Amino acid sequence: MTCRPLPLVTLIASSLVSLSAVAATPANDPAALVNIRDAAMRSDYAYERLADLTDLIGPRLSGSPGAAAAVTQVADAMRKLGAKVTLQPVKVPHWVRGAESAELVGYAGKPAGVSQKVVLTALGGSGATPAAGITAEVLVLHGFDELKARAAEVKGRIVLFDVPFDQDMADHGLAGPAYGQSVAYRVAGPRMAAEMGAVGALVRAVGGAAYRIPHAGSSGLQDNARIPAAAVTIEDALLMTRLAKRGPIRMHLTLTPQSLPDADSFNVIADLPGTEKPDEVVIISGHLDSWDLATGANDDGTGVTSAMAVIDILKKLDYRPRRTIRVIAWMNEENGTRGARAYLATQGAHAEKHVAAFESDNGSGRPFGIRASVGTQAVKYFAPLRAALQPIGAGAFSREDALGTGDLSGLELAGVPSFEPLMDSSTYFNYHHTPADTLDKVDPDNLRRHVAVMSTTAWFLANTDEPIGRANVVVK
Ligand SMILES: [Zn+2]
Repeated sequence: MTCRPLPLVTLIASSLVSLSAVAATPANDPAALVNIRDAAMRSDYAYERLADLTDLIGPRLSGSPGAAAAVTQVADAMRKLGAKVTLQPVKVPHWVRGAESAELVGYAGKPAGVSQKVVLTALGGSGATPAAGITAEVLVLHGFDELKARAAEVKGRIVLFDVPFDQDMADHGLAGPAYGQSVAYRVAGPRMAAEMGAVGALVRAVGGAAYRIPHAGSSGLQDNARIPAAAVTIEDALLMTRLAKRGPIRMHLTLTPQSLPDADSFNVIADLPGTEKPDEVVIISGHLDSWDLATGANDDGTGVTSAMAVIDILKKLDYRPRRTIRVIAWMNEENGTRGARAYLATQGAHAEKHVAAFESDNGSGRPFGIRASVGTQAVKYFAPLRAALQPIGAGAFSREDALGTGDLSGLELAGVPSFEPLMDSSTYFNYHHTPADTLDKVDPDNLRRHVAVMSTTAWFLANTDEPIGRANVVVK
């Protein structure tokens, strides 16, 4: 057979193929950012994965069967998208909730035959009472200063820290600082009380929305002093504060959690390899574990599934980043950050290869833009990204010296700029760590905006020519 020139139609087709291959890896141009944003705003991928995570698995406390199932589910979903998946081994704390109940069995003015039920939930790492419970006097305090002033009264008592969450701050864009100032009593109060001889520690639930539901969380207790520790509802803390004004209060408290040996678990790492600089990495992430009272939809199912959606969006557009985009579903953010530590142990020496790290862990309220611990000189380079996000109301950019977020703070201290969504979190602490953190609290449209913010930012950072600069690290 003689060799003939290719028919014209074939030539056109093949040149179209090569053109589309070029177009499939656009530079960091504004049109690509707009395409990614629009694809995210049409996508239900994150919401569907969130429904899988929360409806099919539910709670995912470290060491639990739910956490193990979540590792498998997320890894499978990422493999299905063609990402390169690695399971990084992590030893995690394994704390298991037991029975939990409390009642006020003595107080001034108590009629015979009456007791008052107190609604509470054990804090992570809490020690246990005997199965039959303990009975002790409650010392109601309203701050660390009062703890010091009344130190002589702590021994043998159950200490209650009744310190309110400042919802007014949360309503005005300062939910994070409001949380920070009251959570100090949860993470340090039980340990301080234990050191002073308390037989139990209670904290007023850290959060807004008083519907008599407790908010779980870490107690900050260590092996050498695990006294029983619990969060009581806002209403029950107020009740005890009122009753304490009438005279001494006695509580019967039963908490039977167990601290088991550390368990085997994993960070799920899913790479979309870079075409030009595959060894340079942009992390986009959320944490896979959750507290055990609910399904962790907002904390942090939305963070994980929004990060997963970044790969889905780019795959669907056939956009290949110059640097590697690395989705990480961190394990054990809630009660140990062992996943972040394991990553730092293996990758900390390669911090300079990490261009940036993004984590979403503040729920799924409406995003207004981005917070970033980049150098001041870098802010101007983000103009194209901000322009792409402006039409969905997410064009704000807040530069900080350090974000100090849960899983990224180690990398940040090593010089890797941290990123997170700047968002409305005024209602986040209504549900945070409560039995009510469920899928129905997530607004699908806001979740799409999250995906838009995270996917455009990941793409921008993975393709930028500009030096975005290291974080201005402030080590205190
Ligand atoms: Zn979280």
